[in-house]
Amino acid sequence: MANNTIKSRLDAVTDAIREAAMSCDRDPSEIGLVAISKKKPPEMITQAHEVGVTVFGENYIQEARDKYDELSELGVFWHFTGKLQSNKAKYAVKIFELIHSVDSIKLAREINKQAKKIDKIQDILIQINISGEDTKSGTTLDEAASLVEEASALTNVRVKGLMTLPSNFADPEGSRPSFRAIRELKDKINQNLDKDSLLTELSMGMTGDYKIAIQEGATLVRIGTAIFGPRT
Ligand SMILES: *Cc1c(COP(=O)(O)O)cnc(C)c1O
Repeated sequence: MANNTIKSRLDAVTDAIREAAMSCDRDPSEIGLVAISKKKPPEMITQAHEVGVTVFGENYIQEARDKYDELSELGVFWHFTGKLQSNKAKYAVKIFELIHSVDSIKLAREINKQAKKIDKIQDILIQINISGEDTKSGTTLDEAASLVEEASALTNVRVKGLMTLPSNFADPEGSRPSFRAIRELKDKINQNLDKDSLLTELSMGMTGDYKIAIQEGATLVRIGTAIFGPRT
């Protein structure tokens, strides 16, 4: 794909992020873009980097390891947004600046153990299964606070916030109540945390609903299709 295609798509996304932020009196610089590059070739990541993208999200460990090795010179940041198996945590801590998808204390402990081995403090988000569907990853709304508390006590893990992936709605407005519930959950959890361990990040919103997510407080939007085109 031509470089200018990615550039024009990125410009459109950046404009939309700015507009959504302005629509609710937020500073656009509070909203970080995670370009979801899963299933897209390294060349497209390089192209996106050339036009200004610095943070890329991947969903599959083996694919991420390959890209990380191939693109090591690029100096970009990698986020993990897929389902993480505990036995892959050792690879994840080597690659990712932020792991968005921690949904159990077992996984948090394994990340902690592997991060300790390489002398790293690993930033993580707790993934919430807002719809309560069995097919979706994430901890429940009810268990979220205790998972945050337990994970925050680990020495080599830092819990930065919450992440969610609502059901696919035909109308993006359908995601709004879920996004709002996650923001309210963050505020509630923060009431019981020390000042220096407050949750600051809300990872929510994808191509179909990121404008709504921004209006509901997202600090990280995870956008694939709108930047790289449809995945085959
Ligand atoms: C694939 C994926 C995205 C990006 O989805 P698009 O609709 O292509 O923007 C965001 N978040 C997660 C967790 C994903 O798996």
